Amino acid sequence: MRKLIVAGNWKMNTSVAEGVELAKKVSEYTVSKNLPAQKQVVIAPPFTHLAPIAQVINADKVILAAQDCAATTNGAYTGEVSASMLKGLGVKAVILGHSERRQYFKENSEILLKKIKLALAEGLDIIFCIGETKEQREAGANLYNNVIKAQLVDTVFTLTPEEFKKVIIAYEPVWAIGTGLTATPEQAQDIHAMIRKAIADNFGQAVADDTTILYGGSCKPSNAAEIFAKKDVDGGLIGGASLKADDFAKLIDAR
Ligand code: PEP
Repeated sequence: MRKLIVAGNWKMNTSVAEGVELAKKVSEYTVSKNLPAQKQVVIAPPFTHLAPIAQVINADKVILAAQDCAATTNGAYTGEVSASMLKGLGVKAVILGHSERRQYFKENSEILLKKIKLALAEGLDIIFCIGETKEQREAGANLYNNVIKAQLVDTVFTLTPEEFKKVIIAYEPVWAIGTGLTATPEQAQDIHAMIRKAIADNFGQAVADDTTILYGGSCKPSNAAEIFAKKDVDGGLIGGASLKADDFAKLIDAR
């Protein structure tokens, strides 16, 4: 059975002290809910916060994720953080392909595939983000469906089915990230169904049925339940609303 996940991407926000407090609250809330194993909560704080947060969360209940990892294993790469370093801190998953990494750091499919392979080699789960820009959306369904498919074909579709089992897809329309604009539940469902079909065509129906596909883009307590209720939406990757413990708790409840 595929996992239902609510994941918080904190981006470059909070001081270490604030982050530790937030993580504690998320952990306490998640523990109090006694969620079934199928339902998971993930937090992705900044790199600097991972070690102290690993000490305060219940790691059986909250999955600690990083927001990125290096495309190389080790060596003279100033400022980079490798997948094995993250693993050593108790990190279990890594977000890769976020639109902000693609846009501001020029990460393309070639770079992302290197990161994916290195993260998988460390046994990390991958939350792989894909999605179309506003211009691509406005150019029509033919174009944006092809854009989204190409983001998969060039990267995670080259993995073995066994490797792909470690991949969670996050559909994040770029026009909805941090903008206050949200895909309608129907728009999200259409794309999620298209993605699941593409996975089935590439890996077979059983793999597609087991793949978690998250929606991300201005998800908040007021709109999440409706989106998460859709058949192919298995939860959310949450930016802004993951920074407030109360809002994130409501999003956990919405799934
Ligand atoms: C994100 O950055 O992954 C995201 C979904 O952000 P927001 O919820 O703030 O739109």
